[in-house]
Amino acid sequence: ATPTAVMVATGVGASHGVLVKGGDALERAESVDHVIFDKTGTLTQGRAVVTVAKVFSGIDLGDFLTIVASAEASSEHPLAKAIVEYAFHYHFNGKLESTKQRKEEIMAEWLLEAADFSAVPGRGVRCSVNDKIVLVGNRSLLSENRVTFPQEAERFLVNLEESAKTGILVAYDGVFVGLLGITDPLKREAAVVVEGLKKMGIKPVMLTGDNWRTARAVAKEVGVEDVRAEVMPAGKADVVRSLQSGGSKVAMVGDGINDSPALAAADVGMAIGAGTDIAVEAADYVLVRSNLEDVITAIDLSRKTFNRIR
Ligand code: ADP
Ligand code: MG
Repeated sequence: ATPTAVMVATGVGASHGVLVKGGDALERAESVDHVIFDKTGTLTQGRAVVTVAKVFSGIDLGDFLTIVASAEASSEHPLAKAIVEYAFHYHFNGKLESTKQRKEEIMAEWLLEAADFSAVPGRGVRCSVNDKIVLVGNRSLLSENRVTFPQEAERFLVNLEESAKTGILVAYDGVFVGLLGITDPLKREAAVVVEGLKKMGIKPVMLTGDNWRTARAVAKEVGVEDVRAEVMPAGKADVVRSLQSGGSKVAMVGDGINDSPALAAADVGMAIGAGTDIAVEAADYVLVRSNLEDVITAIDLSRKTFNRIR
């Protein structure tokens, strides 16, 4: 391709909100044969919604939700936002006309102080509330802290996961107290894009830190056969590299929450949305509209520029 062709393609991309960082990146997209999608916030809307909250000890549901929201208020994770939102509505629905300012004030008064907050990557969050340790996250988070939960809770959890929901477990002062079920709907275009990639001879892969059962249920809905689940944030780049070492040319599509190293490791990193600053930095492409169809637009553009016009 001539420099002019590259310039034209870059401009065409930009007019669709497909921002590419230079001719090399544009060229590499041509030979991509695998596209790895992060699940949360990439294939899914990242607008998670709590569908159920259930307490398993003597704790009051309202108190349970206040503690959980207080722990999650410092987290940037889409799951955390959903939990805080749900707890807020449980407590204040109908009790305010929710202008933004007032909501923030109410939140500040309502939430308890969460001391020593830490995000545990791929696991959840940990902090202390009322001088008691609070854990909010997945099975691994609880088991690593030697918190057990009853069979009844396990059955409830499995049911959630088999219906493509993520179950979040909560421990307070070393004791399992309850769980939440969260659904994060697929983006409307997700299945069509997956199908489109297959027609282009490209293999779609779904990569997630979420548990296997939920991951399989989501993958089935969207039409992806190759699933990699329960992958720690640090392991996401290893999945990219292992495909590459088999000779594949890999595009990674992610929102940058936990997947920036994978975006950087891929032959072509595509950050969706405004993303996080670190994602934008790690990626070769920024898909400004957050629409997965732009993954196809980007690869098409590269193919047209470097294949046909060669
Ligand atoms: P994904 O790869 O789907 O983006 P993450 O690696 O961000 O997932 O998270 C993996 C899992 O860790 C989540 O499915 C959830 O069980 C747990 N987790 C992560 N962050 C949080 C949080 N803030 N609150 C509760 N659970 C969390
Ligand atoms: Mg993610």
